[in-house]
Amino acid sequence: MITCQGKSVFSGVAIGKIFVYKKADNTIEKYQVEDAAAEFERFKAAQAKAITQLQALYEKTCKDIGEEEAMIFEMHQQLLEDLDYVESIQGIIEGEGLNAEYAVFTTAEMFAAMFIAMNDEYMSGRAVDVKDVSERVISILNGTQVAAEAMDEPVIILAEDLAPSETVQFEKDKLLAFVTQKGSANSHTAILARMMNLPSLVTTDIELDPEYNGKMGIVDGFTGKIYIEPDEVIMAEMKEKKKREDERRRMLQTLKGLPTVTKSGKKVHLYANIGGVEDVDAVLANDSEGVGLFRSEFLYLGREDYPTEEEQFEAYKAVLSKMGGKKVIIRTLDIGADKQADYFNIEKEENPALGFRAIRICLERVDMFKTQLRAIYRASAYGKAAIMFPMIISVSEIVRIKEIVEEVKEELRQNDVPFGDVELGIMIETPAAVIISDQLAAHVEFFSIGTNDLTQYTLAIDRQNQALEPFYNAHHEAVLRMIQMTIENAHAHGAWCGICGELGADMELTRRFVQMGIDELSVSPPFTLELRQKIREID
Ligand code: PEP
Ligand code: MG
Repeated sequence: MITCQGKSVFSGVAIGKIFVYKKADNTIEKYQVEDAAAEFERFKAAQAKAITQLQALYEKTCKDIGEEEAMIFEMHQQLLEDLDYVESIQGIIEGEGLNAEYAVFTTAEMFAAMFIAMNDEYMSGRAVDVKDVSERVISILNGTQVAAEAMDEPVIILAEDLAPSETVQFEKDKLLAFVTQKGSANSHTAILARMMNLPSLVTTDIELDPEYNGKMGIVDGFTGKIYIEPDEVIMAEMKEKKKREDERRRMLQTLKGLPTVTKSGKKVHLYANIGGVEDVDAVLANDSEGVGLFRSEFLYLGREDYPTEEEQFEAYKAVLSKMGGKKVIIRTLDIGADKQADYFNIEKEENPALGFRAIRICLERVDMFKTQLRAIYRASAYGKAAIMFPMIISVSEIVRIKEIVEEVKEELRQNDVPFGDVELGIMIETPAAVIISDQLAAHVEFFSIGTNDLTQYTLAIDRQNQALEPFYNAHHEAVLRMIQMTIENAHAHGAWCGICGELGADMELTRRFVQMGIDELSVSPPFTLELRQKIREID
């Protein structure tokens, strides 16, 4: 048995097989093979595996979203079986004696160039498809496939570190826990783990030994330990611990349906944070009143190009419909800092957390911003949508945002596209926004305090930097006073005020937040019922 220590970012016990995650390596090697026939067979096996994965994706998408959306996976299967495509690969492997990865890569490039040269929008789309499907085959061939379809059963992911763009690629129901060598408690991957209800450890003193793949592991999110090939004593102890935790969670279920009010009758709206449609079931299962933060940028991560208006519309509509009339606050694109997507082509920055990110990008790339706003407004006809804007520092930003919003609404009216009555708010996550919150409040209907960034900017502590954890004090008086000031200024100008940063779920502070007059707390779904219990105990 091997025991390693990390820092827990979410509690719980996970028991299952280990999957050692290697970062996708995009460099394609080119080398001569000795046995070309065997190499072609290696390609055929990867091709067959990719087709099986695509079939599974087709079926899942059909079930979860719809047949039309699933068609893409059927088309990808056809592309993989295309005779010309396979013949080209075979020609490179058997004719030139080269390796399968190189043959697939070269063929994909060739086909993509051919499709693009056709100068036809439909065929240009096929260029993206042929590259996409070829990447799948290459990652199977070189063993770096990250997609959860690659795993047969739910696993404990062991990795050096995980960027949000990598984390979103795993399929939720194939995950038991995350364990990383690096990482920080305030990173988005830690936040995602909490949202997904997965015990997780960061800064873990563990080797990324491929030998661990498939071995039994246990993650104890209470003590921050991971056991590899646990002995019988630990296994029995952990099973018991897991049972107790399951029991505790079952007990919390009795709070479902009860109002979130203090003993003295003060109501607090209890909402949940999500990253996508797949999180809504957990929101409903934990009886949240609504979604207080939909991190829409997750729709933009882990992909090759911008999500289209249609794709976004479908996602927002699905969340709003599933929430059945409960409020859903969609935060507009907050890309940048640790949330990166190459296709944005943002120049490398010295200080990305203080850089070109979030609303700054949206106000410069107005067409892209409008695409998102149009998608949200169109979806607003299917539920109760609200929008909030991240990283605000000035009144002029809100004025400009509102002009753009009005343009979008007018365009929709002109085209007879229905949309709902959408509440507009901003995130308060910069000290500047706190200080001028009296002015800002006059322009919006609500504030949502992003304590993750507000803490980082107030204390000048990079939330990604694990070396700064000893200096990071989430309860720093400066941050708490900022929260107080924001709430007071909101109320003085007729706006409501919530917290959607991780501090909202910090139950040592719940009483203080309630005393400050907080109207709403939005937390990861697994914290909802415990927080309701806490609020109901406050006198
Ligand atoms: C925050 O900064 O507190 C917040 C909720 O936004 P994010 O964590 O996505 O930056
Ligand atoms: Mg933030």
